[in-house]
Amino acid sequence: MDYSSVKGTHDVYGKDAVALDYVASVMKAVAELYGFHEMNTPVLEYTDVFARGTGEGSDIVRKEMYTFLDKGNRSVTMRPEFTAGIVRSVVSNKLYATEDLPLKYYYSGPAFRYERPQLGRYRQFNQFGVEELGLDSARADAEVILLAMQGFYMLGFKKLSLKINTLGDDDSRRRYKEALKAYFSEHIDEMCADCHERLNLNPLRILDCKVEGDQEIAKGAPKMKDYLSDASDKRFYETLSILNDFEIEYEIDDNLVRGLDYYSEVVFEIHAISEEGHDYGAICGGGHYGGLVKALGGPEMPGVGFAIGIERVASLMKDNHLLDSLETGIDLYVMPVGEEMLDEAFQLTMGARQLGYKTETPLSPMKFGAMFKKAERRGAKFALIVGEEEVERGVAQLKNLLTKEQFEISLDKYEEELDKAFASIEGDDGHHHHHNEENEEEGE
Ligand code: ATP
Ligand code: MG
Repeated sequence: MDYSSVKGTHDVYGKDAVALDYVASVMKAVAELYGFHEMNTPVLEYTDVFARGTGEGSDIVRKEMYTFLDKGNRSVTMRPEFTAGIVRSVVSNKLYATEDLPLKYYYSGPAFRYERPQLGRYRQFNQFGVEELGLDSARADAEVILLAMQGFYMLGFKKLSLKINTLGDDDSRRRYKEALKAYFSEHIDEMCADCHERLNLNPLRILDCKVEGDQEIAKGAPKMKDYLSDASDKRFYETLSILNDFEIEYEIDDNLVRGLDYYSEVVFEIHAISEEGHDYGAICGGGHYGGLVKALGGPEMPGVGFAIGIERVASLMKDNHLLDSLETGIDLYVMPVGEEMLDEAFQLTMGARQLGYKTETPLSPMKFGAMFKKAERRGAKFALIVGEEEVERGVAQLKNLLTKEQFEISLDKYEEELDKAFASIEGDDGHHHHHNEENEEEGE
């Protein structure tokens, strides 16, 4: 019997779980600022959705999908990315006809790819992303890039490298692919087996081959900018000038083509090297897609979006100490003195929870010293000591575990007294909403 977890998957708990959740929640909040709303699509889709939507020439479809037959003999696939599923949903629910355009959705959840597990690369991982559909404009393209950059800024990132390129419109790309095919045909004997396949499926894909020798050859390849139509050239310039307006730094990368087949016009990636020197790979990738909605049975309708690798972002944040002040602790630990006080302590615990304080109490008898150790381990700010003789007098002892100050509170005015005590330490309690301000101050 093998009861280990599946290769490339991870159990997430403790601080790591808090970190992943934090990254997604900050990104969601920023997406809401930009007028995006959540969409949840199924993990399982019919294989055709991804085969068509991600593209037959993509690495994902060629070798990374978790595909199997269900008991009704239908081929289904666990989503390797979200865009195809969201577009499928827009088409099957006819959202393009019933909702205001542009449609603006964000998503967050697990994706599955059969890849070789390594640093920053797993078989189950989490993505956050956005899609904006139905508006053909350089401004829409720029808006999602600005959203991603603001999200990373809110998470506390200072130095990011934004790489950007354009793949042009269909005509530009057709001419460019021909030129690439001609160039790579000359060198194909020296290139990897994948590139042999790519040459016929989609020669653009060769540009993001990760084999070193192939990358050398790709450096000498024709450049997109020489095949760009005037309209696409102008559009790219417009996007860049919006980024300039907001002082977003970027680097134009001629060989950036991205892994999915349906991209056109602007494509981009965001990279960062951690303070520990780790390169986890791209933390965000995205771009404009002209033909995807139509390819999945919908109307002619463009879209633009990006996806972020949440684990990679969390790893970078950990290395850069951006997670240090993330709270996992509790507010209050209620300590029954003696078995007879367990019920009373439980009552008071529930009362504090209903007021919104994270509160714990032992559910079975525990020694006084052990309770103090536990309160400390859990990072409790206050302990409430509940003794029989005092409860008879209608009071209990509230102890500030940081300053060790202890004072008697009246149980008649329990809620008031708790609020007062917590208000007195407000500001130095490291709540989430103070997180970024603290990081900024540290960085100055
Ligand atoms: P890469 O070039 O690193 O393989 P990709 O181009 O395949 O990335 P996308 O399809 O653009 O990745 O997915 C968006 C983001 O999801 C990536 O930028 C990355 O942060 C993250 N990601 C992709 N694959 C994995 C994986 N196997 N494990 C963890 N994160 C991943
Ligand atoms: Mg990949």
